[in-house]
This record gives sequence, structure tokens and C-alpha cells, in this order.
Amino acid sequence: MMPDSTILNFINGHYVEPKSKQWIDNICPATGKVVGKIANSNAEDVAAACLAAESAFESWSETPLEKRAHIMMKIADLIDQQMESLAVAESQDGGKPITRARNIEVPRAATNFRFFASAITQFSSEAHESVGQNAINITLRQPLGTVSCISPWNLPLYLFTWKVAPAIATGNCVVAKPSELTPRTASMLGEICNEAGLPPGVLNIIQGQGTTAGQAILEHPNIKAVSFTGGTATGEHVARVVAPQFKKLSLELGGKNPNIIFADCNYQKMLATTVQTSFANQGQICLCGSRIFVEQPIYEKFKTDLVTRAQSLKIGPPALPDTDLGAVVSQPHFDKVLSYMDIAKQEGTILCGGEPAVVPGHENGFFIKPTVIEVSSNRCRLNQEEIFGPVVTVMPFKSETELLGLANDVGFGLSATLWTRDLDRTMRLSKKIDAGVVWVNSWLMRDLRTPFGGFKNSGVGREGGLESLRFFTEPKNVCIAFENNLKNEP
Ligand code: NAP
Repeated sequence: MMPDSTILNFINGHYVEPKSKQWIDNICPATGKVVGKIANSNAEDVAAACLAAESAFESWSETPLEKRAHIMMKIADLIDQQMESLAVAESQDGGKPITRARNIEVPRAATNFRFFASAITQFSSEAHESVGQNAINITLRQPLGTVSCISPWNLPLYLFTWKVAPAIATGNCVVAKPSELTPRTASMLGEICNEAGLPPGVLNIIQGQGTTAGQAILEHPNIKAVSFTGGTATGEHVARVVAPQFKKLSLELGGKNPNIIFADCNYQKMLATTVQTSFANQGQICLCGSRIFVEQPIYEKFKTDLVTRAQSLKIGPPALPDTDLGAVVSQPHFDKVLSYMDIAKQEGTILCGGEPAVVPGHENGFFIKPTVIEVSSNRCRLNQEEIFGPVVTVMPFKSETELLGLANDVGFGLSATLWTRDLDRTMRLSKKIDAGVVWVNSWLMRDLRTPFGGFKNSGVGREGGLESLRFFTEPKNVCIAFENNLKNEP
């Protein structure tokens, strides 16, 4: 058992100190105080994790699917049983409201394990008979060996398990790294895996900085695939390092998503959901709709209503049940988000927010007021760059053609939200919007069987359902020729 405030690596089923004995401060975003220390791992730690993974691979990859699924179901049950302690850790690490961690994010981690435990028992390979050539092709789907999963801080356990679960379900062994900003729940998952009976070495968790620990993972020659979720600039770097090594690579990157509102929408539902698409998790969700485009006839009313709703959100300590907005994740991120307020003064009009919030008892925490900015051009930096905080812009449009130009005039293409009751318009626009996911009259409804990922600078590849199972396996075609003449045996 490790002390709660010291985050160690989890290698071969054991919690171990980093070889270098170097540590990073773990800072609570709601108070700005150091609350513990995190292993600052390097290439030596990654090498140890890879060795453990390689040793475990032969046995794990031959473990019957039902047994793998059984262990994964147990992991899910244990996550459910430890929901409260995981939610508290998630909320303290990331500054997010505990209600969000408890009701949405940690339950989703359990769902990820259950989903892929079940999916692997249904995953089938293909066979093709080469009729007339007397041959049959059987396509095996084999695990890759040691694979890596690198995840960000915004939805820590949710995204960590979204990668780890399909990787181990398909028979791989994993070297995974959470963000150094939110290390605790990934660390707690190690103990859960031990308790569930996951063999040592199947999941190894390396803690530490991206530029050292993460980089060492990318560079390790025995890692066969990299599943990465994070920012677009980091993704570009990851691609540069990984591509010449010919590793499989999946990149889930940033977004600057349009939230498109037509006058014929269900206004109240749209407004309530738009508060979420704008400010949930302090706007730190890659799928947040940070560019709001509103059809002219309802633009003024919408602006007033959104500002009223934004101003009524309760900013407070993440541990309180009635807190709507907690702290953003770190001092550098706080500074980055606030730096856009100076830009906002030049590029638009701040309708509300635009400054830090002071939370009594948490004066050194990283709290920012929900911010709505009116802009007149989509070409401004506020509309082109991912701010990743509780900040949205609003802008009117007059026609579908104009709207489509605005929505697609951006370097990203992760998701879009569309509010209308017109079915023809829904189909016309959904087909033409550059985004991997289009939510119509909804937001963040996830069916885990569907493909998830982005166009343009939002990534390469898809996760979810069969896409994840295919990513973590290598297809191998076995062509078997046979003799087709009936033997005239006596
Ligand atoms: P980030 O800075 O790119 O970091 C992502 C992960 O990569 C972290 O674990 C980070 O470690 C690690 N890392 C950093 N440099 C690395 C390197 N040289 N080699 C290997 N790993 C490295 O992103 P973030 O700030 O954590 O997350 C926010 C971003 O993620 C936003 O852009 C958001 O849109 C995006 N996101 C995308 C999706 C999606 O599904 N498309 C989902 C969620 C978030 P450290 O944190 O320890 O440095």
C-alpha cells in the first residue's frame, strides 16, 4: 500500500519508486498548494515497464477470452465499489466538481472496462474463400505485444481506461502514462487491477512528465503502438517521433467545435445544453462547443439568456455538492486562458466573465469566471485557437451557406453540435460539416460502439468499439490452399 500523497510507478504489479529518485510536486488546483509528490520517471523506468510487459505477454495473449473478460468485469466492479475515493482523488487532482467526477467520469471508467470485456467476446475475424482457386483465407487479428497509452488531464481516468481497456482486452500488455497533473486515479487503478486478478506486467503505469517519461515511451523500440490523446502541438511532436519507427499510431487531439443554433430549435433544451457544452468541466473538454453561431432572429435573445445563465453558475470549492464550476487544472493553464482576455478586448466584446473568480478560503486556487465574448469575425484568434477554458464566443449568421463557411473555417474538426428541428437541414449540414462527430439536438451522448475521432488537426484514426479493437490488433492473412479433387479411395 502506498501513502496517498506519494505517487509511485506501477510496474509488474508492484508500486516502485522512480530509478532516478526524482520527484515532481503534486499541486492542488483549488488551493494552489503542494499536496504530494509524483515519481519523475525516465527511460530506465520505461525500460523496466517494457520488460515486465514483454514477460507477461506470452501468457496474457493466450489467456482465453472469457477469462480476460471476467477479470475486466471484476475491475469494473471494483471501480464501482471504490467510486467515492476515486471521485475524491479525481476532483482534488483536476479541480473539477466532485459531482461531475462521481456521477459522470468515474462511472464511465467502469463502463469502459465492461464495454470492452463484453466486446472482446464478440469480436470476430474474417474468412474469404477464393472460389475457383481452391484456397481459403483466414484473417487472424493478433495482439501487437507491448503497446502504450498516453492520456491527458482533462478527463483523467475516463480517457486512461478508454485506451487501456481495449488494449488489454485484445491480449496486449500496456505501458501507460497519465498526465503528471492528474496522476492519482490511474495510480489507484493499479491496486484495483491486482485485486481483480490481472496478471502482473499486463498493465504498467509510468508517472512523470511528458517530455521525459512520455518521450521515453515514444522512443522505446519494443513498444509497437502508441494511442495518444492530448493537444495538437504535442500530437504533431508524437507523430514526428513515432512515424519513422513505423509504430501504429492513433492521435486524438484538440478541438474548436462549432455549436450551431437555428431559430427553429427547442430553445429551452438548447439553452440548458449550451450551458453544458460551454462550461462543463470548466470548458476543459475537447468536445466543448466554444464557437457559438446563432441564427439572426434569435441572436439577441440568446445572448442575453446565455449571459444570465453563465452569471448564475456557482463557482466554488470542487468538493461542495452545489459547485457548478471548479478550478482549471494548473497555474500555467490558468495564465494561458486568462491571456486570451487581453486578446478578447481587442477582438470582441466581453459580455460576462473575463477575469479570475475569488473563492473564499481558496484564494490561491485557479478559478475563472464563465466568459462569453461577442465577436464579429470567425478569423479572429479567439475563434481559431483552442483556449480550453470556460470561454465561448458568440456570433450571428443569416443563412446555411454562411453558417457552413463559418463552421468549417477552422483548423480543427473534432465535433459539432447542431440545434434545429428541420430534418432536411440536419442531413444537409451533417454531411458537410468537417467533424468526426456531429451531435444533433444533443451533446456528448456516447454510444461506445460508434467511431470517435477527428478531422484535420483534431487527429488521425478513430477509437471506440471495433475501431479500438482493430487498432490494438494486427491483421494477418493466412491463405490455405487445398486439393479439390474427390479421392476415389477404395
Ligand atoms: P498534452 O499536453 O498534449 O498532454 C497529453 C499527454 O501527453 C499527457 O500525458 C502529457 O504528459 C503527455 N506528453 C506531453 N509531452 C509528451 C511527449 N513529448 N511525449 C509523450 N507524451 C507527452 O495535452 P493536455 O494539455 O494534457 O490535454 C489537453 C488537450 O487534450 C486539449 O488540446 C484537448 O482538446 C485534448 N483532448 C483531446 C481529446 C480527444 O479525444 N480528441 C480528449 C481529451 C483531450 P504531461 O501532462 O505529464 O506533460
